[in-house]
Amino acid sequence: MNYRKDKYGNNLSILGYGCMRFSRAAGKIDIDKAEQEIMAAFRNGVNYYDTAYVYSGSEAALGEILERNHIREQVAIATKLPHYLIRTADSMERYFQEQLKRLRTNYVDYYLMHMLTDVKTWERLKSLGIIEWLEQKKKSGAIRQVGFSYHGNSDMFCQLTDAYNWDFCQIQYNYMDENTQAGRRGLQYAAEKGLPVIIMEPLRGGKLVNNLPREAKKLFETYPVKRSPAAWAFCWLWNQPEVTCVLSGMNSLDMIEENVKTASEISVGEFGSEEEKMLQKAVQAINAKMKVRCTGCGYCMPCPKNVDIPGTFAAYNRCYSEGKRAAFMEYFMCTGMRKTSSAASNCIECGKCEQHCPQHIEIRKELKKARRQLEGPMYKIGRKIISLFKLY
Ligand code: SF4
Ligand code: SF4
Repeated sequence: MNYRKDKYGNNLSILGYGCMRFSRAAGKIDIDKAEQEIMAAFRNGVNYYDTAYVYSGSEAALGEILERNHIREQVAIATKLPHYLIRTADSMERYFQEQLKRLRTNYVDYYLMHMLTDVKTWERLKSLGIIEWLEQKKKSGAIRQVGFSYHGNSDMFCQLTDAYNWDFCQIQYNYMDENTQAGRRGLQYAAEKGLPVIIMEPLRGGKLVNNLPREAKKLFETYPVKRSPAAWAFCWLWNQPEVTCVLSGMNSLDMIEENVKTASEISVGEFGSEEEKMLQKAVQAINAKMKVRCTGCGYCMPCPKNVDIPGTFAAYNRCYSEGKRAAFMEYFMCTGMRKTSSAASNCIECGKCEQHCPQHIEIRKELKKARRQLEGPMYKIGRKIISLFKLY
């Protein structure tokens, strides 16, 4: 296993275990299977285990497995505060204590604000006293490091990284999202500030393995160096020194074996310019199946009505490559899970964005189509729930 350093010089395995996708039977986590898998990863040097309050049963399963095998002290637990449920200062403590109980521990190594969407949300938490609470927890040793996880565009990501003295952050990043979400720009911005970056969705929820178009698969199969599609995606990430640890939601021993092998063999620089070129061809083959040729460059932003144009097109394209459900989830996370929506329906057709688009995309026309696909009844219900329960 290869390791990279966190902010305080601790070694983190470059492969982290995402505990959101443990196998389930009749809705319940198969704890014996999860134990076999966690222990296989542990024996192979994986020392970072990521869970969250809202991953049903995941914290409790992880806590039970670590306790049963007496390995709590040898691994780092990362879990997340469901800050969108927080109304009072007291509730931070209540959720945290519940998490410690589930995890069967008295400290959390890496504690994240789960899906922090914008600076406004962080300001709201600050007004409830979160900074004082976090500082006190760090002082007592109950929380070792504080970070945030993020889905959204790079501008807001950069603003959020500046909003507090974070210890680390977590972003969605993969070779298809190089210029969407926080993207390479966000990754480099965080790294320049000395922030370790944990990567989630390296395979876009498995789609870069299971849903590849034939042309992309052929490119991988005929390349002289043989790598599986998953190994290509991981190597692209680990070739970037700014990437600290990549989470993988592993739920089979074969998957663990393959990922551990890749994580043990790769080093920065080993993935050369030829490989980068080949991967760009694969990206083009995947993009060719897309509806809107948006590269996510962001030149059209900011929109005076706050429309997340690249985020909308990324989700709209996902409709056709990965299905409506995945697209809806991405769209809702990017545009809906915040106080002020950044949805396509905010567009007033001023046309300002189109003057800057190097791809000459008819943004207004395409936004209308995207809106028809993505802002159905589920989207409206989601927005209603957010405003009724003041979730952001
Ligand atoms: S046309 Fe719509 S998306 Fe483009 S800048 Fe104007 S309001 Fe924003
Ligand atoms: S400028 Fe064009 S290509 Fe770039 S993000 Fe905006 S719509 Fe996409």
